This record gives sequence, C-alpha cells and structure tokens, in this order.
Amino acid sequence: MDLGIKGRRALVTAASKGLGRGCAEALADAGVALTINARTEGPLMEAAESLRTRGVDVTAVAADITTEDGRKRVLDAAGDIDILVTNAGGPPPGMWSDWDRDDFIRALDANMLTPIALMKACLPGMIDRGWGRVVNITSQSVKAPVPVLGLSNSARAGLTGYVAGTARQVAPHGVCINNMLPGIHATDRADSLDKGVSESEGIPINEAREKRMQTIPARRYGSAAEFGAMCAFLCSEHSGFIVAQNILIDGGATNVTL
Ligand code: NAP
Repeated sequence: MDLGIKGRRALVTAASKGLGRGCAEALADAGVALTINARTEGPLMEAAESLRTRGVDVTAVAADITTEDGRKRVLDAAGDIDILVTNAGGPPPGMWSDWDRDDFIRALDANMLTPIALMKACLPGMIDRGWGRVVNITSQSVKAPVPVLGLSNSARAGLTGYVAGTARQVAPHGVCINNMLPGIHATDRADSLDKGVSESEGIPINEAREKRMQTIPARRYGSAAEFGAMCAFLCSEHSGFIVAQNILIDGGATNVTL
C-alpha cells in the first residue's frame, strides 16, 4: 500500500533503539525525511546511518528529550514537520510505597509533560498547513494497569486524558492525534523488565521470558518492525478519519472487550 506521505517530514523522539526506531524505519520506508533523537550519541548516529540507507534524509540530535533544553535543540533541528511521533524511556518498576514526589515529577516530565510540550510546539505549524499526524507511544498500562509500573500507569493516564480533548480541538484543521499502546515487545525495555522478574523470583531470564509469553494470547513478544508498520499507517494519508484513538498492539494480552 502506498501510504501517500513520501516527501513529508517527521520528528521521532527516543528513536535510536526499540519501538521508536521501528517507527522511524517504517516512516523512512514510506519516503519520509526524519529527525531522530536519543541521549547516547553512538547508537543514535548508527541508527541515523542505517536509516539513510533506506533513501531518506536523516538529522540526528543527541539530547535528553525530557529536558527543556533538549527539546529546544531537537525542535530547532526538526523545523517544520508534518508528522510527530513522541516517545521517551519508561519509568522504573516498583511498589506503590517506593515512590515519592520527585519520582512522580520525573515520570510526569518524561511520559506526560514532554509529549504535551512537543505537541504544543508542533501543532500550530500543522494547523497552519492544514495537515498533520501525531502518534504518542504510551503503553498497554493505559487500558489495564501493570501493578509494578505505577509511575507509568499514572503519567500515561494523564497524557491520554490530554490527547482525548486536544485531538478533537485540532481535528478540524486536518491534524490527527492518536496513541499507540504497546504490550510487550522484544526491546531493551522488555529485557530489563524480564531481568527484574528473573532477579525477584530467582529464576533464569529465559524462564521469566517464557512465563511472560505464556500470558500473551499470541504466545510471543511483538517486534519493533510490526509496531512501526502500524505507526506509519497512523501517520499516513489514509488515517485522516482516525482521531483520538488508543490502539493496543499487545498480541491480545489486555483482556478487554473494547
Ligand atoms: P528501549 O528499547 O529501551 O529504547 C528506548 C529508546 O529511547 C532508546 O533509543 C533510548 O536511547 C531512547 N531514550 C530513552 N530515554 C530518552 C530520553 N530521555 N531522551 C531521549 N531519548 C531517550 O525502549 P522501548 O521498549 O522501545 O520502549 C519505548 C517506550 O514504550 C517506553 O516509554 C516504554 O516504557 C514503552 N513501552 C514499551 C514496552 C515494551 O515491551 N518494549 C511495553 C509497554 C510500553 P538513549 O538511552 O540513548 O537515550
């Protein structure tokens, strides 16, 4: 399918690895010029080089997207963009009793206020040009809580509420905002969660992984490539009637009817 976005320009944050990189790769395959970002220079430059081999222009900015200065540098480099994919690292797991105010502020900054700030910066240009697509990478924890991810459950619920209203305010201008809710995907993040289970239960990491896979109806983890394909569709010419949706990509793991 021709996604109809060849020649458009996108910013994908936190995109040197994992799901962000999967989204950047799928957009590159659709002919979209990219600005990508991550904190660590080496893997970011490697990702940029690899994306260029797909035939698109790529600008890479090493910066912490959760800081005001980092966002400014990334947004300045990206310029006028048609497509924004927001992503950042997820907060650490723990118990409800582990977290104090500073932990919540960090989680809110990373997973709620950062995507909101990026949207606030990019939406006016999209509205002026009469076309835009925003995809926020959130989590299955928005639909059903993951008890050890209380910081994520809280921050992402806040972002979801913001998007639900904002998406309806910008839709009349041809701008569509949606969220993608990953279940478990085979990335570094999943490895670190499996490592946590392995350590807390005293079992090998492979056993922890196998146990988790058995909780997923698809009996496997998702891949960054299939996640990216859905993201590219949501950023495409064909998605103009999809507004304010929360799309689970979780192999059926979240046991809900709707
Ligand atoms: P990942 O494989 O660990 O990759 C994270 C990427 O984000 C890396 O490129 C990392 O590079 C970059 N990054 C992290 N913090 C950043 C920051 N402050 N500023 C700029 N770049 C940053 O993670 P992932 O699995 O793709 O997860 C992406 C998001 O989806 C996370 O929020 C995660 O919680 C959520 N999620 C993932 C899963 C899953 O199963 N994978 C499930 C549910 C939700 P640097 O470290 O160099 O900055």
